[in-house]
Amino acid sequence: METSKKICKNGSITLPKQIRAEAGLFPGNAVDISTSTDGTVTIKPTAPCCRFCGTVENVIVADNVVICRKCAEKIIEKVGATND
Ligand SMILES: [Zn+2]
Repeated sequence: METSKKICKNGSITLPKQIRAEAGLFPGNAVDISTSTDGTVTIKPTAPCCRFCGTVENVIVADNVVICRKCAEKIIEKVGATND
């Protein structure tokens, strides 16, 4: 997703919900912000956080998706329920 936003007087920008969801950014998570010489600003989670709930505890990377043990167990449970 690509969108345009105006920077507020205090320098803040609200990241659209869809952007946060796609990037796996959650309220309360720390982010690293960096710039490139071409003016690109990059925002990424400081620590890998679960794509589904945002926790940074007990996370694993599976097929480039960061997921916590709790969410992984929920998904496995649902998959098991649909196979019955
Ligand atoms: Zn999770």
